Amino acid sequence: MKQLSVNPESEQNLFFHNYSRLPIAPTHGKGVWIVGDDGTRYLDMIAGIGVNALGYGDSRLEKAIAEQAKKLIHTSNLFMLRPQFELAAKLIELSGLSKVFFANSGTEAIEAAIKMARKWAAGNDSAAKNEVLSLSNCFHGRTYGAMSLTAKPQYVGGFEPLLPSTGMIAFNDIEDLEKRVSKRTAAVFIEAVQGEGGIHRVSSGFISRLMELREEYGFLIVADEIQAGCGRTGKFFSYDHTPLQPDMVCLAKPLGGGLPLAAVIGSEKVADVLTYGSHGTTFGGNPVACAAGLAMIEAIMDDRLMENALNTGDHMRRQFELLAEKHPQIREIRQYGLMIGVTVEREAKYYVESALKRHILINATSQNVIRLLPPLILTPEEAQQCINALDEIFTEETAGT
Ligand SMILES: *Cc1c(COP(=O)(O)O)cnc(C)c1O
Repeated sequence: MKQLSVNPESEQNLFFHNYSRLPIAPTHGKGVWIVGDDGTRYLDMIAGIGVNALGYGDSRLEKAIAEQAKKLIHTSNLFMLRPQFELAAKLIELSGLSKVFFANSGTEAIEAAIKMARKWAAGNDSAAKNEVLSLSNCFHGRTYGAMSLTAKPQYVGGFEPLLPSTGMIAFNDIEDLEKRVSKRTAAVFIEAVQGEGGIHRVSSGFISRLMELREEYGFLIVADEIQAGCGRTGKFFSYDHTPLQPDMVCLAKPLGGGLPLAAVIGSEKVADVLTYGSHGTTFGGNPVACAAGLAMIEAIMDDRLMENALNTGDHMRRQFELLAEKHPQIREIRQYGLMIGVTVEREAKYYVESALKRHILINATSQNVIRLLPPLILTPEEAQQCINALDEIFTEETAGT
């Protein structure tokens, strides 16, 4: 057989056209650097879309995966699996909540939480209590339930009809919140820091009012921590920077150390909602993924990576503020640990392409937001290389070269 090319042409032939891939074919990585098949090294400020908290080539993670893979790769949830038990206990300890369900991806965790919310509400009140709300500009995933909560034209166009009895509250708009929630509300899904939406933090005032209304109407609050969770903002859960006490929490992206893994963690309130056979998954809580997850969380704690996220993130904000004084293209900087959004004048895609030429991988979201989700191991020195490259790019742009 002819040697298969891994290039953009071959990509067009082989795959559905739902991705816009970078023209890089990575073969390996080390630390915050990823290496293409031509040997080019790139500083990776995207980290597998916020997944690779430990960067690349962490030996503890590799060891945990290899050891578990040698013992047992898959059995399904017909069995009791030690790595799953240990990770569940860890998540309960970290969250102070009481029960765990493991899934394989963020959207599946959201799906499970929607189902649990509806079942909980049905058992608690009239049949009309089934409305699931989210916040404008949010992102919760791509399957039907999660997509219905993410009702923006670019995500849902052509896929209607969506899940009924869903709706949206204007982000941080307390008046709109008061108007939208009612006794028909089963749950409100919320990202304490919106990721795909462009790195926006929900206000404490909004959260406090949401919690008061929860008392009044008896709905659940589900925290989508899929992107902002697992330490990225400097606390294990990003809602810990707010007064929020959620009834359920969804985790995914970095949770499996790069392997597919997600979790729903729930409070006592929802502890008995799922009954035997009412929900499940073949792969969810796979022992290799759970072993990786445990190693990942342990490394975050051992290496004090949440502290590092705060320090390096702070450094980056200060440097971006200096850039903003020089470059009018920068409109706004939003930074929560190592979750960073920089709003720029023009389409952020331009900067993604310019940075790529300088072997720096950054990401654009929400049209004009440069988004950075680097590994939590990023040092200020490494971060500075990204800042310097962007400084050059802004300067060249102004000079028109
Ligand atoms: C990525 C993401 C999801 C969806 O996760 P997948 O694993 O891609 O299904 C849901 N919510 C948030 C906040 C995300 O960032």
